[in-house]
Amino acid sequence: MNGNLGAIPAELAGKVVTPGDRRYHILRSTYTTVGRPAAVVLPESAHDVGAALRLAQDSGLRVAIRSGGHGLSGSGTNDGGLVIDLRALNRIDVIDRGSRLVRIEAGARWAQVAEALATHGLAISSGDHGNVGVGGIATGGGVGWLVRQYGLTIDHIRAVEVVLPNGTAVRADAETEPDLLWVMRGAGAGAGVAVAFEIEAMELRDVGYAQLLLPVDPAGETLRRWADVIAQSPRELSTAVLLSSQGSTAAAFITAVVASDNPSVVRDALEPLLGIADITVQQAHIVPYTELVPRFHLHANTGQMPSRTTNGLLTGLTPDAARALVTAASGPAPAFVQLRSLGGATHDPAPSSMAFTHRHQDILAIASAFSPNERSTLAAAWKPLAPHIDGAYVNFESARDEAAFARAYPGSAGTRVTDLWKHYDPEGVLRPRPPA
Ligand SMILES: Cc1cc2nc3c(=O)[nH]c(=O)nc-3n(C[C@H](O)[C@H](O)[C@H](O)COP(=O)(O)OP(=O)(O)OC[C@H]3O[C@@H](n4cnc5c(N)ncnc54)[C@H](O)[C@@H]3O)c2cc1C
Repeated sequence: MNGNLGAIPAELAGKVVTPGDRRYHILRSTYTTVGRPAAVVLPESAHDVGAALRLAQDSGLRVAIRSGGHGLSGSGTNDGGLVIDLRALNRIDVIDRGSRLVRIEAGARWAQVAEALATHGLAISSGDHGNVGVGGIATGGGVGWLVRQYGLTIDHIRAVEVVLPNGTAVRADAETEPDLLWVMRGAGAGAGVAVAFEIEAMELRDVGYAQLLLPVDPAGETLRRWADVIAQSPRELSTAVLLSSQGSTAAAFITAVVASDNPSVVRDALEPLLGIADITVQQAHIVPYTELVPRFHLHANTGQMPSRTTNGLLTGLTPDAARALVTAASGPAPAFVQLRSLGGATHDPAPSSMAFTHRHQDILAIASAFSPNERSTLAAAWKPLAPHIDGAYVNFESARDEAAFARAYPGSAGTRVTDLWKHYDPEGVLRPRPPA
């Protein structure tokens, strides 16, 4: 599908950016991928999104949807097609302070959300970066700094305003469009364009925040001790571990966040982590949640991070899996490996309650490799880990093939996702597919 841009409808006048426009160079690309689209549309309403979808179809142009442009597969841009960039749809409103219900448009960034909600004493656990878009996280999952306390971002979505590929605007909630709500919470990218979400936020202002640096032994025993501590920890504690290569082994940089502003709760939650190895650097503070997804994260996306990422979920951490993680992060061509603690509230929803069905796993392992040899480096690093994987999270995946789909949506969930994508998008306008 690669046509020519047709006549621009009146409602999109001034909102379509083509290569001759001086705005084009900052709109063409995403974080990982330089794009050369025929046009970027900047809708200001759901109606505009519908018009943009119709323009693409009438012009025979392939569509890319973009909220924050941080997607790891580069699907937020394309070559020769039409990009619908939702950045102008970025309102953040508290609908009902009593029930903590907020309405957030898909083009907002999580730094903006954190800042806007902080003035109401509210927060949403989203991800670790303030520049990531609401639309990508809230249609895929959302493994944030408070994931064990809050669960995934999508666990708290109560309604989604969607523009279907045929241009129709629909509000999906549990009563009126339960199937659409089900698929938008975890596999939204193939069903429709989410323009806004109603999400239940949490009461939260300040959090405990600690950073630890420690050596990791080649057998991964340190990582196993970390996993054991997390398994016994209260939900308030969530951690992210970065493994950095130190020749034949690795060092771990742990960020721990405690969902409390009470120093003794924070201390009690953090203390067991101090026993897992000889900690070389440690610091702990109570900080506003906004400092974890700060405004200075906001930046333009110009394809500045050419890279490839994959991930897998782990149930427990066996000795073999722990050793494979250290191997992936060390040696002559290491991958950049991150671990996120799951469990706690991520296990609460019934697996079948939404398209993200992974509700028993304990760890999310993410591996990235950077240009120029990103494909081969990642493939080699991931090989020893692959046998230990128990499902995957769609948002930390660069591949757009059937194998990646099957890891994210295994078994009957995959069948239901495919059926619903066909139902809402019979022409396959939004269906994820390998880059042209
Ligand atoms: C630096 C960095 C840090 C990250 N940290 C985290 C983290 O801590 N936790 C976490 O869970 N994830 C994290 N991610 C992954 C992130 O969830 C995904 O990359 C997500 O897709 C980014 O959302 P976006 O709106 O910025 O992406 P975009 O590039 O705008 O979109 C990516 C794709 O998502 C789909 N999509 C986006 N918006 C919509 C919409 N409104 N309606 C329908 N489909 C849509 C489309 O298929 C689109 O092509 C991180 C990514 C990066 C690059």
